[in-house]
Amino acid sequence: LELDSFVGESHAVLDFLSDYYKDVESYPVQSQVIPGYLKKGCSDYAPDSPEHLEFILDDVRKNIIPGLTHWQSPNFFGYFQANASTAGFLGEMLCTGLNVVGFNWISSPATTELEIVVMDWMGQMLKLPQAFLFSGNGGGVIHGSTCEAILCTLAAARDKALKDIGEDKITKLVVYGSDQTHSALQKAAKLVGISPSNFRPIATSSSADFALSPNDVRMTMEQDLANGLFPLFLCATIGTTATGAVDPLMGLGLVARDYGVWLHVDAAYAGSACICPEFRPYLDGVELCDSISMNPHKWFLTNMDCCCLWLKDTRSLIESLSTNPEFLKNKASESNDVVDFKDWQIALSRRFRSIKLWVVIRRYGVANLRNHVRKDVELAKHFEGLLATDCRFEVVVPRKFALVGFHLKSNPSIYNDDVSKLNRKLLEAVNASGRAFMTHAVVEGTYMLRCAIGTTMTEERHIEGLWKLIQEKADLLALPNDD
Ligand code: PLP
Repeated sequence: LELDSFVGESHAVLDFLSDYYKDVESYPVQSQVIPGYLKKGCSDYAPDSPEHLEFILDDVRKNIIPGLTHWQSPNFFGYFQANASTAGFLGEMLCTGLNVVGFNWISSPATTELEIVVMDWMGQMLKLPQAFLFSGNGGGVIHGSTCEAILCTLAAARDKALKDIGEDKITKLVVYGSDQTHSALQKAAKLVGISPSNFRPIATSSSADFALSPNDVRMTMEQDLANGLFPLFLCATIGTTATGAVDPLMGLGLVARDYGVWLHVDAAYAGSACICPEFRPYLDGVELCDSISMNPHKWFLTNMDCCCLWLKDTRSLIESLSTNPEFLKNKASESNDVVDFKDWQIALSRRFRSIKLWVVIRRYGVANLRNHVRKDVELAKHFEGLLATDCRFEVVVPRKFALVGFHLKSNPSIYNDDVSKLNRKLLEAVNASGRAFMTHAVVEGTYMLRCAIGTTMTEERHIEGLWKLIQEKADLLALPNDD
């Protein structure tokens, strides 16, 4: 480490980032570059000699910033937000600055012990049953993403089941979700060796707000059993990606219990909201589930990356993922008095993410974290209110959190195109303007725009600006008026 230049260069990067945040609103939200754009701005070979930081930052300014889609822009409403914060950034600085690798307790005791503390804090904030906490009989771990969390959980469920029914039955195991479940589940099923024909995305419908029906799950499992298959794993979602739908944990929990199925809850997005008493009822029934994960890097002011996963049966996870190579053997691990998080995740090495989450929670406090969620929900309500003032538009899916799914209604006297084409054009026009960015979803064959509110710097004026922009672009899509 170049300690002589460490502080000076770090300040230069901080100044750079501070200017970036001051200016971010003025950049086109979606990058306007074309594929391969960067090649021209970069040398073909790595430099032989060191370069000055100021030249590198100059290049970031000239070549990298134009190729960024600005996720921290207050006019970013796409996907689900990855909200950044000062505390999250400071925590990340500590994580990356200390750069310790706590794969087992002995490799850096504080990293493991802080993770245990923070996971219990988070679990308490969500009012998870004691069985999920270290202070009960369970525990939690911080992964980089929900995809990893679901993969590891599914591997644990698979190995636990195969121990009972025999390894040769792997081709008979069945995984269940809904047609709204994130593709993370399908990817995990592929990776743990579930036969593609045994992946069941059960249909949902608008009449049930796109929630998974416990009855449909039960019927599907019955059918699978009748066909000689073994129901293994069910993934419920609190806040689906397309519509923010909520699956009923209580009903699904009873079905999972009847069939001996592992029930995981993917609360990647809306888990953060459940720290508020008014949203916590969505987690009712979690006591019947086996594991639950949520992403503080989406809506909990925690910079990328951070996914919390809790399990009741941590032994199954450890049995599935543990290895014991000679070079890692040590007295503490052999004593069984410590947690070795290498056995709770895919990789050996791991980042000190708990320090970031710890700083976020301590710097804001739970009350402010709740208010942060509530502010975004209020902005979403405001946006819904604006949509209601213009009869050309309709909200497609009832809003539960801060995601609003809406579209321009079909109207042959105003528009030439069918609903899908019309709304695709509207989204393209909004995003091409550079003034805001949204994404889309198709539910029951209906194309809709998704306005996901939650970027840290978004205020009411940005919602109003977005609404003006949408109306402006909708006007331009209308057929010429004959008058
Ligand atoms: N699950 C849900 C409901 C999501 O919305 C997302 C991402 O938006 C994911 C899982 C994937 O999360 P990650 O990127 O952390 O794997």
